[in-house]
Amino acid sequence: MRNGNLFVISGPSGAGKGTLVARLVSEVPDVWVSRSVTTRPPRSGEVDGVQYQFLTDKEFDQLIASDGLLEWATYNGNRYGTPRATVEEHIACGEQVVLEIDVQGAFQVREKLPQARLVFIEPPSLEALEIRLRGRGTESDEAVEERLAAARVELSRKMEYDVRLVNDDLDEAVQTLVRYVNEQAEKTRG
Ligand code: 5GP
Repeated sequence: MRNGNLFVISGPSGAGKGTLVARLVSEVPDVWVSRSVTTRPPRSGEVDGVQYQFLTDKEFDQLIASDGLLEWATYNGNRYGTPRATVEEHIACGEQVVLEIDVQGAFQVREKLPQARLVFIEPPSLEALEIRLRGRGTESDEAVEERLAAARVELSRKMEYDVRLVNDDLDEAVQTLVRYVNEQAEKTRG
């Protein structure tokens, strides 16, 4: 069976991970992005089963108990996790599997699957991050402050990642990510 690769994309909320991953999907054919489960309530415009599968606390507990999650973490009071089975299936199919998860989750994945490639997406500065988070308008002032506090902690671990990528010029960042994923895919194909 051909084996694919596992890419973990993390970095502060507002650094542009979602946009970069969407562009990666449109440029590299065999990329598959895992859909997480979360206990966070949906934001306006979010649909269950699209951005996330939205779960109750009890449903999340059941998934943990049945060993259904590859990793999970609490971020700003809500839990987020990666369903294990689908990720394993897509890797086994030879695809380039992408997880867009927080820093705590990234290191859990590395523990369990040391072959995972960890990519850190960095904002140009904390000031730029704050402008993006406030401009997005999806979070209350309090939640923005919490996300900025989380960002400081996340940035302190960036040197532990395999690759760091500053999302200053979006097109340039996309091309760097596409090149990296293609290079790694090529190595696995041997
Ligand atoms: P948001 O609430 O903005 O959608 O996500 C908050 C943070 O949780 C982001 O950093 C996002 O990457 C992270 N996240 C999303 N899904 C998962 C997951 O399955 N596991 C972990 N550990 N973090 C996740």
